[in-house]
Amino acid sequence: MNRMIRMNNYISIKDLEVFANHGVFEAEKQLGQKFLFSAEIYTDFCGAVRTDDISLSVDYGEVCKKIVEFNKNNSFRLIETAADKTAAMLLREFPLIQKIRIEIKKPWAPIGLPVQYVSVCTGKMWHKAFVAIGSNIGNREEYIDKAVKELDADESCQVVRVSDIIVTKPYGNTEQDDFLNGMIELRTYLEPLQLLEKLNEIENNSGRVRTVHWGPRTLDLDIILFDNVIIDSEKLTIPHYDMHNRRFVLQPLAQIAPYVRHPILKKTASELLREL
Ligand code: ATP
Ligand code: MG
Ligand code: MG
Repeated sequence: MNRMIRMNNYISIKDLEVFANHGVFEAEKQLGQKFLFSAEIYTDFCGAVRTDDISLSVDYGEVCKKIVEFNKNNSFRLIETAADKTAAMLLREFPLIQKIRIEIKKPWAPIGLPVQYVSVCTGKMWHKAFVAIGSNIGNREEYIDKAVKELDADESCQVVRVSDIIVTKPYGNTEQDDFLNGMIELRTYLEPLQLLEKLNEIENNSGRVRTVHWGPRTLDLDIILFDNVIIDSEKLTIPHYDMHNRRFVLQPLAQIAPYVRHPILKKTASELLREL
């Protein structure tokens, strides 16, 4: 597991009945129907056990109320969407939930065949990601400041820490202005590709145009680490393929997370910086 999630501890809710208006057909939206919601809520409730205090655990009564309220106030075509959005809403509403699985059963699915129910199941959890931020055109401080605020304002992301912003010489293509570089620690329930899309959107909002690789840019947001995830795909490489060779990445990373470990090189940020 990536972080200290006590998988032995979970709270389970089975088949909470909600009368809601999800469905592809007009009649389903108009008339509504019965859905059954189940949840597995992973939370470290050791503190609650020690003190016998509910405020240190997740109140399942409150969770049920939120599920009902959210699904009565929103109508989705797909139960896939309803499950995903419900999971995200619960992660946001209950800070102690680390991971959640939601199942929605649809016993009255209008398929014209006898079936006990159809259902979808989805999971979501909080991840820890490190995102490198850089800028070397225009009002660099402002681009960086705005990007951090935009990330934090997104409901799926919380900025946990931001390193000092340092001035660095350009890397690769050296005939350009100095950079400002920093590192952001992020708590997010987005998956890696979704996070990349979100970062690209923020880069685009800053007016970034991609002309030359390693060329001047208003804003660059790179995923450096994402839990202990290792991905090597056309669109996305995690850990960032060149992080261990870049002082402007390792220095701010080691400042905010000296002990975070590169999952392939098996070295901490401090060790990588020292060996540079
Ligand atoms: P470098 O990646 O060497 O720092 P760059 O940041 O200037 O160069 P970009 O133009 O910002 O490169 O991105 C090029 C492509 O890199 C993006 O379209 C994206 O799909 C891909 N990419 C792969 N891995 C990552 C990652 N970990 N973080 C961000 N982008 C990535
Ligand atoms: Mg980059
Ligand atoms: Mg980039």
